[in-house]
Amino acid sequence: MTDSPYADRYSVVIVGGGSGGICVAARLKRARPELTIAIIEPSATHAYQPGWTLVGAGVMSLADTLRQEGGVIPRNVTWIRDRVRSFQPDAMTVTLDNGSVIEYRRLVVCPGIQLNWDAIKGLKETLGRNGVASNYYRDGAAYMWDCVRNFSGGKAIFTQPVMPIKCAGAPQKAVYLSCDHWRREGVLHRIKPQFCTAGAKLFGVDYYVPSLQKMIDYYGVEVAYKENLIAIDGQKKEATFQIVGTEQTVVRPFDMIHVVPPQSAPDFVRNSPLVNEAGWLDVDPTTMQHKKYETIFGLGDVTSTPNAKTAAAVREQAPVVVDNLIKSLAGEPLDGAYSGYGACPLTVSYGRVVLAEFLYGGKVVSSLHYDQRKPSRFAWTFKTQIFPRLYWYGMLKGIDPKVSHKIVDTTK
Ligand code: FAD
Repeated sequence: MTDSPYADRYSVVIVGGGSGGICVAARLKRARPELTIAIIEPSATHAYQPGWTLVGAGVMSLADTLRQEGGVIPRNVTWIRDRVRSFQPDAMTVTLDNGSVIEYRRLVVCPGIQLNWDAIKGLKETLGRNGVASNYYRDGAAYMWDCVRNFSGGKAIFTQPVMPIKCAGAPQKAVYLSCDHWRREGVLHRIKPQFCTAGAKLFGVDYYVPSLQKMIDYYGVEVAYKENLIAIDGQKKEATFQIVGTEQTVVRPFDMIHVVPPQSAPDFVRNSPLVNEAGWLDVDPTTMQHKKYETIFGLGDVTSTPNAKTAAAVREQAPVVVDNLIKSLAGEPLDGAYSGYGACPLTVSYGRVVLAEFLYGGKVVSSLHYDQRKPSRFAWTFKTQIFPRLYWYGMLKGIDPKVSHKIVDTTK
């Protein structure tokens, strides 16, 4: 590196110490211990967000989904506890909220996705009260469980915003688990569950839709397609939806509501030169290298890649980013390739999961080698017991094994 006026410089700087940031740091440190690596992360807590659907259903405790950030940052990786404010890609620097400038040889951008609660009028005033819950934030999942277990009759609405969002299946996981809880308590017949989605179908990959439709019918859920939540009045218990593509609105009364907010790349990324026209970090979908700035790589929810935004995707992107970043430091051609793998364990009841797995273009794959459209106890064990362990002790340590996915013949 050349002489620089900046106080802090590292071989690799990672923006965000969530799933993507920790996974890349751990793998990189194992592969190249001599590299100086810094993670810029403002939060003192690291969250296993896939557990929050289970917290909202009383299956997992919130504490089980959280760890001290300092405990997951790999040894000999520097933690800069601040927020990145802006990027200067030509100078190969980032500026922090406190004004310091950090210089890098390679940058990995993975600050996740932004939850735009403000985009729903009245939501902030009532979230976490008046029966308005959301599994999409830490303390929200515990309140969701309070709402569900104390509910014994009335209208229960579950919303899903315009895509993309992280874990596109999570809005309907809340539907199934809540309904199954009410069924077991013998009160489901007194409840009118409604799933109001801005989408035009139940799930993005058609192969899994009939299995999910069966569960919707089983629980007696009314599905309203192309309805996007735009306002909520917690006192009056009314939710206003806009019919997608029109000016028309529908007001629906509720007794409890599970809200999923619209999402975008974080503002500091959207306002940077690093994004595409749609406002996402503009990386090559195969190499995960930035399309314009060769010293920058990205992964996770912030990227422009058309995969499902999941921790499962991060798990497959991280080794590609690490391989290609090392090659790029050595001036060699990049040969790591990401397939677009994403997975969604749809918890269709307490004890059973439809495990959706797919690549770019919705190409269906299977890692467990059975018909994964069928609700499975085995997949429930994976979701509730094995995945969390794989996350904390495999993925975040940089030692999870590569899993092979078999292409599924969807004509059968
Ligand atoms: P994150 O893990 O969100 O990390 C981003 C980090 O960047 C955060 O620590 C944040 O503090 C930090 N950051 C933000 N701004 C800045 C800044 N300015 N400067 C520096 N750092 C910053 N995935 C699955 O695979 N399976 C599931 O079943 C599943 N279920 C889910 C259920 C719910 C309710 C939710 C919310 C998510 C679920 N996910 C699931 C999705 C999964 O959690 C995310 O896709 C994954 O965490 C993305 O990793 P990431 O590193 O991109 O972002």
